[in-house]
Amino acid sequence: HQAVVRGDVTIDNISYTYYGSDKPVLNQVSVSLQAGQKLALLGRTGCGKSTLLQLLTRSWDPQQGNISIDGVALPQWHEASLRDAITVVSQRVDVFNGSLRENLLLAKPSTSDDELAATLQRVGLDALLEDKALDTWLGEGGRQISGGERRRIGIARALLHDAPILLLDEPTEGLDRRTEQQILRLLMEHAKDKTVLFITHRLVGLDQMDHICLMDEGSIIEEGKHQAL
Ligand code: ATP
Ligand code: MG
Repeated sequence: HQAVVRGDVTIDNISYTYYGSDKPVLNQVSVSLQAGQKLALLGRTGCGKSTLLQLLTRSWDPQQGNISIDGVALPQWHEASLRDAITVVSQRVDVFNGSLRENLLLAKPSTSDDELAATLQRVGLDALLEDKALDTWLGEGGRQISGGERRRIGIARALLHDAPILLLDEPTEGLDRRTEQQILRLLMEHAKDKTVLFITHRLVGLDQMDHICLMDEGSIIEEGKHQAL
């Protein structure tokens, strides 16, 4: 709906309660990111981080408060424009029954095989390219992929999709430390000019962030720069 999305994100006083629950998972949360800013949302397991991300991509809408991108409230965005504006590496990367090619094209339709292969190389998935290459069948009846490979497929998709806003939900969970550092470096290099919301429950990658919000039981309890916290 806007030709160029800058990537300002404003989360204003939102509360969210899951259907059937009597306790809000998010309680009057406000967070804002200026275009290009890198923000870490840190908090222990179950505090509501992924729920906040789901609200940003409109899986659900908050019962209270507003979220806007470039000053336009999410309900006013066309679904397709919102998809173009936001890239998500979700906590659970979804790999469907299909070829490796099909699993990647989801992120950027009509990408050449050369670019797909180059992207797989960047994320360290070149081993998948041996044998049947991009025709390798993933999922049921195909190649069983490991947790680490699944994550890298999620990262490869994010590199391909290339939107101005990047939402990372524990993007390196389950990877060894060295691989984690490599992947984080790759993502941050890719996101140099992008708005980044980096969700984590561990103290990792925070030195690369401009701002850190500490969340507990659905509220932001502290925020500031890395050194200050
Ligand atoms: P983690 O670090 O483990 O990923 P999180 O901070 O991302 O945790 P959420 O996934 O947002 O936490 O969950 C917050 C709370 O909401 C949890 O108590 C969880 O059980 C609950 N919850 C999450 N999804 C649903 C759902 N679809 N329906 C009902 N309750 C849910
Ligand atoms: Mg989560």
